[in-house]
Amino acid sequence: TTTFEQRVLSNGPGKTGRVMVGIRGKRLRIVVTGGAGFVGSHLVDKLLGRGDSVIVIDNFFTGRKENVMHHFGNPRFELIRHDVVDPILLEVDQIYHLACPASPVHYKYNPIKTIKTNVMGTLNMLGLAKRVGARFLLTSTSEVYGDPLEHPQKETYWGNVNPIGERSCYDEGKRTAETLAMDYHRGDGVEVRIARIFNTYGPRMCIDDGRVVSNFVAQALRRLPLTVYGDGKQTRSFQYVSDLVDGLVALMENEHIGPFNLGNPGEFTMLELAEVVKETIDSSATIEFKPNTADDPHMRKPDITKAKHLLNWEPKVSLREGLPRMVTDFQKRIEEEGRKR
Ligand code: NAD
Ligand code: UDP
Ligand code: UDP
Repeated sequence: TTTFEQRVLSNGPGKTGRVMVGIRGKRLRIVVTGGAGFVGSHLVDKLLGRGDSVIVIDNFFTGRKENVMHHFGNPRFELIRHDVVDPILLEVDQIYHLACPASPVHYKYNPIKTIKTNVMGTLNMLGLAKRVGARFLLTSTSEVYGDPLEHPQKETYWGNVNPIGERSCYDEGKRTAETLAMDYHRGDGVEVRIARIFNTYGPRMCIDDGRVVSNFVAQALRRLPLTVYGDGKQTRSFQYVSDLVDGLVALMENEHIGPFNLGNPGEFTMLELAEVVKETIDSSATIEFKPNTADDPHMRKPDITKAKHLLNWEPKVSLREGLPRMVTDFQKRIEEEGRKR
């Protein structure tokens, strides 16, 4: 495939017809949908850092300008306020499609909007990829495995998902998005990549997004009890954001379609996570038990053999290393909030 840059050059030295040397010997124009969000903004940092041009598309539902503000003024960076549910015309080489609220509290807030974002938003980005010949990467989720009956989860597992539950707008939405990606690939020859992301944490998460790591960290810093839902024996595996970003880029640059699990296999019960947060922030923090939410998966842990083998990728940052980096960011933002009040 030819890149946008090459197509411009073949039409004569136009406005963008400069040959620049990026990491792969050529500069790319890359769209990141949801690029003002938590994961997206870290991905944007990496892509701009290696010399590519980035267009962020975001409707700011859960994203914030503050996450990308440090790139304002960079001529290789553009920020477009746009909802992916509506079509858009652009000329690009690669599309990282992240737009979609990720925290259960956010995606259940307007479930119809969530499923529209997953289905219509993904359809539009695939239509765009088809028109311009761009490579398309979908950020799917471990939630496609539902409340898994296989542990740890391999990519070959088809999942155990409630199609009519409160989480369905998200997990069935992402399952449909995967189906769309594969159908555009088989039917229209679009180059697609599918990542199934497991719970990820790090700086720039929304402080009050209701996810467990952000909740525990904010609660410990505000000297509030850590809210453990249910008996706290359910498990999750927590990945630091820089590991995820490395995995997404490795997947985009590689020849394999996926799906690939991208997650850290270190598995913790919520009670164990609360202990790590206490050790990191405040050993005197207390725990308060609250009722759990509907259809909460009992356990979750990625089998990452496939990504290790085919992408030569594996996470490097343990929970005990990653958590303090997130705490520094949360502490600063919570103090700023306090000053504004
Ligand atoms: P986030 O909520 O911080 O970021 C999502 C971004 O998408 C936000 O900037 C939001 O404003 C934007 N957005 C939402 N709906 C949109 C729409 N209709 N049009 C345009 N922009 C829209 O979440 P995140 O944690 O950064 O997640 C990014 C992606 O990764 C999501 O697709 C999510 O499903 C996936 N994922 C994340 C995790 C995780 O643990 N963080 C786990 C699995 C999958
Ligand atoms: N689309 C878009 N940008 C483009 C090309 C397509 O947003 O550059 C949208 C288009 O409006 C449509 C969707 O992507 O809603 C799927 O496009 P496709 O061409 O596959 O289907 P069709 O338009 O034939 O229904
Ligand atoms: N959870 C918790 N306390 C909280 C928030 C969440 O114990 O304050 C639990 C939740 O019930 C689930 C796990 O933590 O079992 C992970 O929830 P999260 O919303 O972070 O992500 P999920 O993996 O469910 O999408």
